Amino acid sequence: MNHTNSFEPAAVSDQMPARGDAQPRPRVLVVEDNGDMRDFLARVLLMQGYEFLEASDGAEGLHVARTQHPNLILMDISLPVLDGFEATRQLKQDPAMRHIPVIAVTAHARPADEQRALDAGCDGYISKPYSLRDFLTVVEKNIYRSQSLGEHVPA
Ligand code: MN
Repeated sequence: MNHTNSFEPAAVSDQMPARGDAQPRPRVLVVEDNGDMRDFLARVLLMQGYEFLEASDGAEGLHVARTQHPNLILMDISLPVLDGFEATRQLKQDPAMRHIPVIAVTAHARPADEQRALDAGCDGYISKPYSLRDFLTVVEKNIYRSQSLGEHVPA
């Protein structure tokens, strides 16, 4: 689902821009069960010119990925219903979604999760707590791995 955020009305559209419109904005899906964290990341990503998609558990994350075609997924590991490992495994087994880069959001307190995330098919990871600067660098670097974006440069 799209995040509706009143200070960034342009972000509310759930339609891909028509050809000839302004460049499409890259879509970032945040799968995170902490609502405050989702709201914070929504503000950050919208201000950086990304389109924000969200899901609060692993199963919803798979559904949003399947229907909304994000260009990048930030996948929390500790999630209800399906954890980030299992959601990523299923996503990477699906030919329609396996091209989408998945960055695991792990915890410094659980370093073994980093390797487990890679084993599950994640394309990289960032450990909590992270700095905003590191977060945006990870988003920027990995959004280009998405095939569908072509030459697009985030605004
Ligand atoms: Mn969590």
